[in-house]
Amino acid sequence: MTASPSIMVTATPERAVVPPPRSVPAHEVAPQLLLHRVFVNTYALRTDVGLLLIDPGLAQTTGSVHKAVRAWSDAPLHTAVYTHGHIDHAFGLQAFLDAGERPQIIAQENCVQHFQRYRLTHGLNTYINRRQTGNPAFVFPDRFTWPTLTFRDSLVQHLGNIEARYCAAKGETDDHCYVWLPALSYLFTGDLILWVAPNCGNPQKVQRYPVEWVSALEQMAALGAEWLFPGHGYVIHGRRAVQTVLMDTARYLQVIIDQVLTRMNAGQTPEEIFHAVEADPDLSRRPYLLARYDHPKFIVRNLMRQWGGWWNGNAADLLPATWEMQAREIVGLTGGVAAVVARGRRLLDQGDTALAAHLAEWVTRADPSDRSGQLLKRDVYAKRLEEVASTMAQGIYRAAMNDARVALGEEPVLHPPPCRCDPRLHASGEAPDRLGVGTGQRGRHRLTGPRLRRPARVEEPVPRASARSDGERSHRASSGRAALRPAARMPSTSAYARLRSVLRTWLMMRLRAAEVR
Ligand SMILES: [Zn+2]
Repeated sequence: MTASPSIMVTATPERAVVPPPRSVPAHEVAPQLLLHRVFVNTYALRTDVGLLLIDPGLAQTTGSVHKAVRAWSDAPLHTAVYTHGHIDHAFGLQAFLDAGERPQIIAQENCVQHFQRYRLTHGLNTYINRRQTGNPAFVFPDRFTWPTLTFRDSLVQHLGNIEARYCAAKGETDDHCYVWLPALSYLFTGDLILWVAPNCGNPQKVQRYPVEWVSALEQMAALGAEWLFPGHGYVIHGRRAVQTVLMDTARYLQVIIDQVLTRMNAGQTPEEIFHAVEADPDLSRRPYLLARYDHPKFIVRNLMRQWGGWWNGNAADLLPATWEMQAREIVGLTGGVAAVVARGRRLLDQGDTALAAHLAEWVTRADPSDRSGQLLKRDVYAKRLEEVASTMAQGIYRAAMNDARVALGEEPVLHPPPCRCDPRLHASGEAPDRLGVGTGQRGRHRLTGPRLRRPARVEEPVPRASARSDGERSHRASSGRAALRPAARMPSTSAYARLRSVLRTWLMMRLRAAEVR
């Protein structure tokens, strides 16, 4: 493997072609640094004392990561770090552990509560991500490899003559960190940079931290790094380019934050603020800030949730009538479903899909058995789905469209976004089918079961809480050990096998990838 040229490195991010390739064969992307990219970027760095693995990746690609790393180096895995506890970053160590490796596993201390929350809300996360990815077979992972060494604010580790600085930085999560190697001028940002507009408004997920995200970006910009290695997307090379991406991203967020804060402090309602605040139009066009995943309006909502309560500013919504009761009242006043559907059709024809969606919701809630209402709902959300670039918005519109299709007796339509994997990876089975979800370690595409599995019993971790800075290997009594035990698997049934087979066939025909973060 050679260090260059790599199609995954850009020195001119403002002219980069997006989206970046979803998967590429593992290769050395910078001196002494291996990149494994299947949806998420996993990096392995050679040091005098062994390998440093940054973001092991998805559970489904653990075999692929392990194989790639071991083809590149036979040095022991000294340390793994989770830039945060999301499933695409912190779930890919199993193959290394199965091979007998016992790395130090470093994470910001909130990672432990993050995993605990995942256990507590396993079913919820399964449903959320099914909706977001459009993959009805998605099952949220329930096996955790707990960190063995956590820190609160920062941690310095010496890996031979390389110093690694781990810095807490809330942003996409409350357990985020970035990794700075001053001797190499390598900066690993995790998802603080991810080649789309910051994922800090996600409508179905827990609180994000835009203000802290800006601080982290400014801190990282002050480092003057020569190389930036993001959680997703292109590696950025060159001080100017690194600085530009970090500071543009900070400004993108700050523009939204300032508007929201000013308006909240002026006593405006959430409704007024939501409609008034806009992202900076110039920054929004940069290849690394396109709203292909999150949406700036969702960031507005997220900020209002962070600083305010849940009340939406409409007194009727404080202790409201049900949506169905409201819908029956509204539809009744118009003289019936037909009038509302007719108006909804006109709005749809005129391109006002936002208003048409409200009418579609009213008619289908007032009378779910009325086909004309369900047809309107189906068509409205099919159009909304087409209109938006945001994966998160698409997921919710697709699910609403499919609710109508199911009510009409039609097959749900799945529309995962285009797969841009290197075909060689699909051929070898190393690329994921959708989002990396379903990539088997056995060299073929597969899906997890269609039904919810109960979370496997996983013993509680108690990571060594003190931040040490010696970089020495330490696995004694590591609580992370508990997570090494295999989780119970769902028993295979013939119905399950049939569904798997149908889904696999469908996926093989139109392999696409969806996103979960
Ligand atoms: Zn990610």
